[in-house]
Amino acid sequence: MEIIRLYALLVRRPIESSRGAGVLSDSSMITFKLEDRVFILTGAGVSAESGIPTFRGAGGLWRNYRIEEVASPYAWRRDPRLVWEFYSMRRRVAGAAKPNPAHLALSDLEAQLGDRLFLCTQNVDNLHEQAGSKRIAHMHGELFKSRCDRCSSGPFPDAATYEPPAELPRCACGGIVRPHICWFGEMPYQMDEIFQALDRCTVFIAIGTSGAVEPAASFAARVTRRAKTIYVGPEEPANRGAFADWYLGPAGELLPELFQGAMT
Ligand code: NAD
Repeated sequence: MEIIRLYALLVRRPIESSRGAGVLSDSSMITFKLEDRVFILTGAGVSAESGIPTFRGAGGLWRNYRIEEVASPYAWRRDPRLVWEFYSMRRRVAGAAKPNPAHLALSDLEAQLGDRLFLCTQNVDNLHEQAGSKRIAHMHGELFKSRCDRCSSGPFPDAATYEPPAELPRCACGGIVRPHICWFGEMPYQMDEIFQALDRCTVFIAIGTSGAVEPAASFAARVTRRAKTIYVGPEEPANRGAFADWYLGPAGELLPELFQGAMT
């Protein structure tokens, strides 16, 4: 723990940004005014300290497959058994994970800000829920839900694993049941609600997301002219030019400190 804290302090150094406005914050706290509306975007990095690997950390590979080869409509059409093997593995890993201090700090923040906080996650695990967060937009879907790939019956809770020699799960209509996940090339969920919240926010904080996956990567640029934009994570994101402030370090170390006494 101490080594991680030391690392977080050591990397607090100024960074050049392509916009030229970004600075590494000296402050050890983020404070909000009563009138602030806060948009939080979380990515795979928030769950890394809970033992769920990021795609980047895994080198973007599962076995020898690139993630796109097992997480796309094309992959599903070609080999749904392989896709279910991948998501069964992810369900097992996520099912064993527990929320870390970053998830808990975000749920505490929601308890303080109420509906002035909008939590949007790219994560498909349920660690924000486990930590006690109540209102979460899962723009990339939820690992513990499935839906039919043919009919319009909605997503349903499903924590089962489907690995060979198990049969593929079937819907009553004859379609194959698929993970309720937004795959590469598909439209993310709840986007109307997400854009409304983006257009209302006065503070935008991205945490543990590489800034390389669209459309989430463009959220900071959308709001940067009128909202305060902050990044939290161990390394600069690809879209660093859209952020005014950075806090560099692991989210589980930094967030409890950053949100301590968040209301002014
Ligand atoms: P990414 O894998 O592209 O990037 C992860 C980011 O997390 C990196 O920028 C890295 O620096 C940062 N990071 C690593 N450790 C961290 C820590 N301790 N604290 C804070 N940040 C840390 O992930 P992404 O940007 O979220 O986007 C890729 C896609 O990955 C998304 O679509 C998401 O759905 C999917 N994904 C989700 C999970 C999950 O649900 N837990 C896990 C892996 C990938």
